[in-house]
Amino acid sequence: MLDVNKIRNDFPALDQMVYGQPLVYFDNGATTLKPTVVVDTLKEIYSKRNSNVHRGIHYLSLRMTEEYEEARKRVRKFINAGSDREIIFTSGTTASINTISSTFGEEFVKEGDEILISAMEHHSNIVPWQILAKRKSAILKVIPMNDKGEIVMEKLDDLMHEGTRILAINHVSNALGTINPVKEIIQKAHKENIPVLLDGAQAIPHGIVDVQDLDCDFYVFSGHKVYGPNGIGVLYGKEEWLEKLPPWQGGGDMVEKVSFEKTIYADLPFKFEAGTANYPGAVGLAKALDYIDTLGKDRITAYEKELLNYATSRLSGIDGLKIFGTAANKISIVSFLLEGIHQEDTGMILDKMGLALRTGTHCAEPVMTRFGIDGTVRASLVFYNTIEEIDRLYEGLIKLKQMFK
Ligand code: PMP
Repeated sequence: MLDVNKIRNDFPALDQMVYGQPLVYFDNGATTLKPTVVVDTLKEIYSKRNSNVHRGIHYLSLRMTEEYEEARKRVRKFINAGSDREIIFTSGTTASINTISSTFGEEFVKEGDEILISAMEHHSNIVPWQILAKRKSAILKVIPMNDKGEIVMEKLDDLMHEGTRILAINHVSNALGTINPVKEIIQKAHKENIPVLLDGAQAIPHGIVDVQDLDCDFYVFSGHKVYGPNGIGVLYGKEEWLEKLPPWQGGGDMVEKVSFEKTIYADLPFKFEAGTANYPGAVGLAKALDYIDTLGKDRITAYEKELLNYATSRLSGIDGLKIFGTAANKISIVSFLLEGIHQEDTGMILDKMGLALRTGTHCAEPVMTRFGIDGTVRASLVFYNTIEEIDRLYEGLIKLKQMFK
């Protein structure tokens, strides 16, 4: 069992009042709060240990380089990648996807080819592929979802064929909470020789990622959604793919030798890390992953499941409340609407009660279009949230309904 009271002490942001009420933070899907150990690490680096990596031969630089490379190993271990060469630090999920859409697109996508995504993608996993499709006169195809917010697997079979160059899909939907059957999807795609990129932004904080077991070709996520710092993210790629791709950005650190006539690129993973690295971010991220492992991924998963079940049954009991995203396999996200009350009004009034929830399209506008709505209210729950906080949401919604009567 997780000791949630003890855990909450590790997150000082939870201990504050908002509009005279103790804060309930249910906007973890947008960004998670940071444990003290992560904040302290950043403070220590900036105040004492700061020095650029891979450059200096002096003590501080060498030490920071070591810490940065240790962070890479830490990430490798966390997602069970086979080699450090497969772990590239980026600024986040968005940058990681754009790296692949640009480089893979440059090398392997030509006119008339198809790029496959799903109906429940975040804009970060739609727009980069649209840009690529436009640049290469390729075609973007979309796997539909059913009314529960689950991928229609039979349609996936129909959509994959010889001309499909890549399949990019989220592991977990940020708008609906659906955990996609990505292992099965990857097996199907690989049978057709289609590589798969998984957007793991929402899966990684829930501790369910093993890239070798999944056999995905690329896996991407952001540090700030997994209790780590902002501005750091990860691009995992199978070595055999990364070797074949050209660099995305040029600059310092990604080169072996430069002359005006010819430049030789650095080896993996540095080929994809142009410019000064975000080493404080990488080391802070490693600390966040240590923190998660100390709590225990299995314990986190079990507790968050408990929160999801409780929130689902409590909120379903409210007359006129509809939950969007009722997939059989879900993480702890509850997206909902109250009949007759606009989602922004719901969010604003709950805020005045000290409850921080996300409202709007969640950067997944096509999901809203699919359900014929303009947005939802989203509660995304993690291991520092509690049953009592869900009760406060329930009571807040009941009060709100009375106000609108
Ligand atoms: N994909 C998913 C599923 C997300 O939830 C998010 C963030 N909401 C992103 C991509 C983009 O992440 P970032 O803004 O950190 O690059």
